[in-house]
Amino acid sequence: MYRTVAQLDSLTSALANWFPQLCTRVRLPERSVQGRDVFALRMRSGSGTDRRGVLLVGGTHSRELMNPDALVELAVDLVVSRLNGTDIVYGGRTWSAQDVKLILETLDVWIVPCINPDGRQHVLTVDGMWRKNLRDNPGTACDGVDLNRNAAILWGVTEGQTSCSPCSDVYAGPGAFSEPETRNVKHLLDTRTIHTFADVHSYSELVLYPWGHAFNQSTDPAQRFTTLPTGTCAPIGTPGYQEYITVRDQQRFETVAGRIVDAIAAVRGRAYTPQTGRALYATTGTQSDYAYSRHIANPALGKTYGFTFETGPRAATIEDSFHPADPTLIKRDAKSGLMALAQQSICAFDLIGLKLLGRRNEVDALRTVRDDALAKTEAGREWITLIERVEVPLAPLLLKDERLAAKAAKLLARAGQLVTDAKEQVGDGEIDLGLDLVRELDARGEAEDGEVRADLKAISALLERLRGLRPAEVVEQLTSRGPRDG
Ligand SMILES: [Zn+2]
Repeated sequence: MYRTVAQLDSLTSALANWFPQLCTRVRLPERSVQGRDVFALRMRSGSGTDRRGVLLVGGTHSRELMNPDALVELAVDLVVSRLNGTDIVYGGRTWSAQDVKLILETLDVWIVPCINPDGRQHVLTVDGMWRKNLRDNPGTACDGVDLNRNAAILWGVTEGQTSCSPCSDVYAGPGAFSEPETRNVKHLLDTRTIHTFADVHSYSELVLYPWGHAFNQSTDPAQRFTTLPTGTCAPIGTPGYQEYITVRDQQRFETVAGRIVDAIAAVRGRAYTPQTGRALYATTGTQSDYAYSRHIANPALGKTYGFTFETGPRAATIEDSFHPADPTLIKRDAKSGLMALAQQSICAFDLIGLKLLGRRNEVDALRTVRDDALAKTEAGREWITLIERVEVPLAPLLLKDERLAAKAAKLLARAGQLVTDAKEQVGDGEIDLGLDLVRELDARGEAEDGEVRADLKAISALLERLRGLRPAEVVEQLTSRGPRDG
C-alpha cells in the first residue's frame, strides 16, 4: 500500500502540529506544475541553531513509490524514539535512543517526502509507470521533464542517459532548473546549510555518489565540469574525459557510502553496492551531483556531500521493481541506510568545538590540516579514517558527560592553537591531557567494541610519539606512519 499525496501531506502536518518541539513544516516557495503545494519537514531537538543540515528528498521519479513513504515513516520513527527515549530497531540493526538524540540535537534533518506530487498522483490514478513531472511540452504530444536531469550540473549535455527530446523519459527540460519542483530543492540548498544530501530513488540496491557524467580521477584538477560547455544537447565529446575529485572527498564518499551499505546489510542481509553514479550509467543534471558540484562552481558556497539511493532489488516485473505489492522490508532497509547517512554527518570536531567551546577558528584550522595535509598520503588518510571511525561511538559520550567534554574541548583548543601558531611545539601538557582522555573514553563501556579499543590504542601510541614535536613534524609523522604501521 502506498500513501496518496494528501496522506503524505497530512502526516507531515500532524507531526508538525502535535510535536512542534521536534518538527516544523515548511511550505516550499514554488507550487508544482499542476499547482500542488510541496512541503519540507525540519526535525531537530535541543538548543543551538548553527547546525549542519541533512536533506533527504523522495518522489523525484513518480513511479518510485516506496521512498516518500519510507521518508515519512522515518520521521515518525525519529519522533517516537526521541519522545519515548526508545531505540529504533530495524531488523538486525538497532539505533539507540542515544544515537537518535545525538542526531536530532546536533543536526537539522530536512525531509521532503515527495518533491513531485503531480507525478505521484498521476502514477496512483492514471499511469503506474510515469517517471517525470507533468510539464506540458509545447509543440509535442509528450509531457514531462525528468526532474533528475534538470539541475545545473552539465545541464543539457546528453552524455549517456540524458536527452533533449521532450518525448524521452530522461528529458532534461527546456533549461536548467526550468521546473518548479527542482527549484524547490535548489531553494533549500541555497538557503540552508546542507552538509549532506540524499535523493532516494528505486531500484537496484545501490548507493551512488559523484560523479555521474564521467569516471572519477584525482590526478588532473584541470579536468573539471566547470570547463565544459552546457546545454549543447550533445555528449561531452572530449575523448577520455574523467572528472576530477580530491582524494579527500573520494575517501569521504567511500567511507560514508560504506557505512550506509553496512547499516542496510545489518537489517536482513541485503547487499547494496556503493559506487559512483557513472559506474551505473552516465547522467547529467542530477540532483545529488548538483548538490556536490555547487561548492566547486562557486567556491563561496559550503560543501554538500550528495548521494543517490536506489532502493529495492530488481523484481520479476518492472512494475514490481518500482512498486512492489509489499514494500515493508525494502523501506526498513532504506531507513537504516538513511540513519547511517545522518549519523555520518555528525562531526565530533563541530560538536566539541562549536557546541562546547563556542569557537570556530580552531575547528577550521584543524579541518584544514586534515583535508589538505593529511589527505595527501596513504598513512594520513588512514588516520582520517580512524578518527572518523572512533568519533561515531564516542560523540554521544562527550555529549552526555560534561567533565569529559570539557577535557576534549581543552585538548581541541590546544591542538588548534598549535596548528595556528607554527612556532610552538607539542608539550607534555597536551600529550598527558590526550592520554588521559583516551584512557577515560576507553573505560566508558565502548571497550567491548574491539575496533574502537584498537583505534584508541593506536591514538595513545601516536600521542607518545608526538612529544616535543613542532606542528610541521606532527604532520610529517601522521603522513608518513599510519595507525597500522605499529
Ligand atoms: Zn529514479
